[in-house]
Amino acid sequence: MADQGSLFDEKTLAQAASDPAARAEALRREIEHHTYLYYALDAPEISDAAFDSLMRELREIEAAHPELIDPTSPTQRVGGYVGEQFAPVRHARRMYSLDNAMDLGELDAWMDRVVEALGSLPPMCCELKIDGSSIALSYDARSGGSLVRAATRGDGTTGEDVTANMRTVKDVPLRLRAEALGKVRTAPAAGDEEPEPLELRGEVYMPKASFDHLNAAAEQNGRAPFANPRNAAAGSLRQKDPHVTASRDLSTFMYAVADDGMLDVAGQWELLEWLREAGFHVNPDVALCTTREEVRSFCERAIERRGALPYEIDGVVVKVNSFARQQAMGFTARAPRWAIAFKFPPEEKTTLLRDITVQVGRTGVLTPVAELEPVVVAGSTVARATLHNLDEVHRKDVRVGDTVIVRKAGDVIPEVLGPVASLRPADARPWAMPDACPSCSSPVIREEGEVAFRCISIDCPAQAQERLLHWASRGALDIDGMGEEIVSRLVEAGRLTDVADYYSLDEVELASLDMGRLNKDGEPIRLGHTVAKKLVDAIDASRGRAFARVLFGLGMRHVGKTTAEALAAAYRSMDALSQAGEEELGCVEGIGPKIAHSVWVFLRTPDNAAVIERLRAAGVTMADDAQAAGAEVPQTLAGLTFVLTGSLVESGLTRDEAGARLKAMGAKVSGSVSKKTSFVVAGEAAGSKYDKAVSLGVPVLTESQLLEIYETGRAPEVD
Ligand code: AMP
Repeated sequence: MADQGSLFDEKTLAQAASDPAARAEALRREIEHHTYLYYALDAPEISDAAFDSLMRELREIEAAHPELIDPTSPTQRVGGYVGEQFAPVRHARRMYSLDNAMDLGELDAWMDRVVEALGSLPPMCCELKIDGSSIALSYDARSGGSLVRAATRGDGTTGEDVTANMRTVKDVPLRLRAEALGKVRTAPAAGDEEPEPLELRGEVYMPKASFDHLNAAAEQNGRAPFANPRNAAAGSLRQKDPHVTASRDLSTFMYAVADDGMLDVAGQWELLEWLREAGFHVNPDVALCTTREEVRSFCERAIERRGALPYEIDGVVVKVNSFARQQAMGFTARAPRWAIAFKFPPEEKTTLLRDITVQVGRTGVLTPVAELEPVVVAGSTVARATLHNLDEVHRKDVRVGDTVIVRKAGDVIPEVLGPVASLRPADARPWAMPDACPSCSSPVIREEGEVAFRCISIDCPAQAQERLLHWASRGALDIDGMGEEIVSRLVEAGRLTDVADYYSLDEVELASLDMGRLNKDGEPIRLGHTVAKKLVDAIDASRGRAFARVLFGLGMRHVGKTTAEALAAAYRSMDALSQAGEEELGCVEGIGPKIAHSVWVFLRTPDNAAVIERLRAAGVTMADDAQAAGAEVPQTLAGLTFVLTGSLVESGLTRDEAGARLKAMGAKVSGSVSKKTSFVVAGEAAGSKYDKAVSLGVPVLTESQLLEIYETGRAPEVD
């Protein structure tokens, strides 16, 4: 291959000893260059061993001269702990979703709309739709193009700051290649405002092989496997410890720029070229199509090749190529009009129905579950699928021993469609609901007019276990890591009977929990200190969750998330709620007599009241804290713009957290200082923004003054 600017020459080597700073910089450029060849061009020039050797030398220089360490150095990918929460990031430009075309007919209808809007069919860029998590990477073009932030899409308006974790993803450049900087427009957009960083967007995903590897390891360690590579990628991105993310082997494909005005490129095709040039990993499977036929055949070919790709895709994205034409078409509230996601048809497979088992839910409902010969459908292994209820089993007429058709479409939960009648074994019998609960053997009843069969025993261990899991689940008290296996071991060990028992678990006891399996030396596997510590921390964190989540977590019959929120908003505390009469409860917006009765009975049942008192004693939230519940916070800072700089050591808040609190009170928070800035808050080691504030005469506040604002809700007077 032609010389790509390699620095392996004697002159540079000779410089090394005398000038470690120059050598370190040369090594960084060299390493970045080989990373670019490897990921962006897929054309490595040196062996892994030679690459490692360059890294080793750079590490050695940096160890000997720590003052030379730079955050963009390839040695600095894995940094410190993320902390309790990922700070919210407001996207400067909305991260849109895409409208879907569910078949070729809908794709054609979209192309009709494009022709209608633009007069004729323009060139269109077809790309694979990567099934991962959206990511926005921001680069500061002024500082030589270093990565300053990575954020998830979140709800499109506000995502989460995952910078520390994204830095560990090896194909993400920590700075843009110098060759690409020439096309970045850094001139301030208006007046004295400093330019926003250049935000590039794409997808972070987990390759299929890494996913299989991760799940095999999870299984070996007794952890629950991830359902599919998409969940694994999203989960890996939200790790509190970047070392864990670094070990997960994530990759990216980048394909968009938030503001195309910031790049000197005219369309999507050129953008992809620029992204590659800048050092990003860009999917090579793209086509610039000029006819409907070409677009259609790209989609059809993608369906055929889907299984052979080393990563998951769930469709094809077709985009009007020219940015000017994109602008002419614009956006709906949800998605661009100039792009469409052609979704693959749902995948169907046949497999053996080995058994129909019955699962007991937390309210005693018995649900038949199809136990299947494991089969890979639309990217994930399906071994079980709910059959919902007895009527459904009969309607579909599925019997144990049948060969059944299983369907899954992308996100959708796998579904058993029905049997292949001709393959039914002669002795297959229709399935019947058992008369007794499979967990506690109590009689099973079906209430008048109800579809569901129910175990009505209050002592049913299966129900108890489901209630415990529900309390710990994401939407409820969110005790991270408290999954099915650990809960069932704790129940068996007699340490968990009701939800209040969670708060008396201690680390030593948890660490020695017998997981019911033996290691290769024949000794029982125990939970261990690391996991135990994490669980205790997660239990502690759950004490502070909002009151509505506590109400939801208690698992009262008919009280889902929305109902729990309505009750919390209406009564604000457990005391007030417990005193409410049944009729009064029924008058709350969204609460009918059935729910009112269920809540009233639940709170008056002595066992439940006792559990609630123990939860209260353990410090679990029993009242609505106005701010936590998202109630109106007075907008006393409306009209003011704050800029934060330096680190906030007194409060320990990150800048994003501090900013979020100001925003909650109505303030705007900006990343750069201008004459319009009302206040600059300077923490420790404040940088150039402080200098700029002083030069523009913008008032500078200390961290203590900021804390005072939080307390009083008022900004200091300035004259
Ligand atoms: P959806 O979430 O189904 O509305 O689809 C929109 C999402 O598809 C975007 O937010 C991206 O995360 C993702 N996506 C994957 N590949 C691409 C691509 N090549 N171009 C645009 N979006 C993509």
